[in-house]
Amino acid sequence: MSSEAPPGTPGHGGGITSVRRHAGKVHRSDETDEWVIRYEVICPDCGDDGGPFDEQPAPVQQVRGPYPDFVEARKAVARHTGAG
Ligand SMILES: [Zn+2]
Repeated sequence: MSSEAPPGTPGHGGGITSVRRHAGKVHRSDETDEWVIRYEVICPDCGDDGGPFDEQPAPVQQVRGPYPDFVEARKAVARHTGAG
């Protein structure tokens, strides 16, 4: 059974909330596509099954971010799990 703590309170996530690297393609005006690395917060406790972003419910999409760098994503995890 997963933790009963709601998001943002200590104990939420049960230590399974994680940061995942996500590569996304950006289409630039000069027609050179660029791959950018972003970071997603994955919280199974909130119902994230790790599947495609578009298939997650809105609250899970909000948790995921994405975030521009690993540090920001880790801060988001700390806020979300109540550890920060
Ligand atoms: Zn959560």
